[in-house]
Amino acid sequence: MARVRCQAETCSHNSAGTCYANGIDVCGGMAEKNDQTSCSSFLDKTIYSSLTNNTETGGDCDRISCSVMSCIYQKSGACTADAIEVGGHRAAAYHETACNTFRAR
Ligand code: SF4
Repeated sequence: MARVRCQAETCSHNSAGTCYANGIDVCGGMAEKNDQTSCSSFLDKTIYSSLTNNTETGGDCDRISCSVMSCIYQKSGACTADAIEVGGHRAAAYHETACNTFRAR
């Protein structure tokens, strides 16, 4: 199973709902709800075209950095969840995405 499933089909790293970025950074500080978080690695496909084959492993994204201090899965700047789902259907910018796996401490 993919570690990062993503609804932002407008992102250069997205292929059929799976993220192929080498790594992603989730941000959101002291978010209280998932829509206060974002995937800051979002890249607009209309500008950057398709970037789905540049992971070091050759597979899909398995590296998740996270700075959401208020999430139970965040530890030492990394996400410890087995898999996450990123929302952002038709997102035009990174702040229109969200980590739907966020869970407040
Ligand atoms: S928005 Fe983030 S999680 Fe979704 S495909 Fe792009 S880089 Fe990956």
